[in-house]
Amino acid sequence: MTQVLENEVAVITGGASGIGREIARRFAADGADIVIADIQDTPREGGEPTHELIDEETEAETAYVECDVSSVDDLESAVVAADEFGGVTVMVNNAGIFHGEEFLQTEEEAFDRMMNINVKGVYFGAQAAARRMVEADGGSIINLSSVAGLEGSGEFVTYCGTKGAVRLLTYSMAAALGPDGVRVNAIHPGLIETTMTTDDVSIIGSEDEDAFLESIPSRRAGQPDEIADAAVYLASDQSSYVNGESLVVDGGMTNT
Ligand code: NAD
Repeated sequence: MTQVLENEVAVITGGASGIGREIARRFAADGADIVIADIQDTPREGGEPTHELIDEETEAETAYVECDVSSVDDLESAVVAADEFGGVTVMVNNAGIFHGEEFLQTEEEAFDRMMNINVKGVYFGAQAAARRMVEADGGSIINLSSVAGLEGSGEFVTYCGTKGAVRLLTYSMAAALGPDGVRVNAIHPGLIETTMTTDDVSIIGSEDEDAFLESIPSRRAGQPDEIADAAVYLASDQSSYVNGESLVVDGGMTNT
């Protein structure tokens, strides 16, 4: 039986951990070959390296490339690595960092770091992949934004700014690349259980968790594989006429 991502070659930034790891596993299970592009190969949450796990679980070809998405050269290397499997057809710009800050106390270095990873990394990751996709007459680029890219928050000024930028970069890239057959869409996760939300910004497991869950109609945090399901849809031909779209996966938090 044909698999939904058969013949696809995906580069997934931040694919070692959390949401990126589940996207990589699902893509591989659905027939894609996978390049994990991350600053580390072991998951932040612990466990074996994602590319090794995929090797055990599936028939997919996999590679790990050490890549800091704030470096244009590293992003180019990650995309080049996909040439070994036939060339990138799906780019998932997933790597990101999240922390809160007092707006009045935010220092330039912290601002630049988050912008470089969350925005510059998406911009040049998409560009590196799109150059090949345009030549090949098609491809799908998926950018990880957030519900924080839809609404402002006084606690997360910089993060919201970066994720809002990802949303409009997505729409603009879709306009630029659509005529060449390349689709660009964004996923906006709500509260998803990863190291980001248990440790970096402690929501899950904190005393505020119950109050936070009250604001989510589904009354629970999402799991990384629930974002992977959305990514499979956007990567595959099932979404062939979906372009420049924001897919919100948040248990109903934003619209209620
Ligand atoms: P995570 O911290 O669990 O995993 C992030 C991965 O990115 C890690 O493997 C890390 O090593 C990698 N990474 C960090 N900096 C990097 C860099 N400079 N270059 C390459 N890789 C780097 O995070 P997650 O929860 O899986 O989040 C993935 C994406 O989803 C992020 O863009 C995040 O902003 C977004 N998101 C997450 C949530 C959530 O609730 N977890 C909600 C909305 C959006």
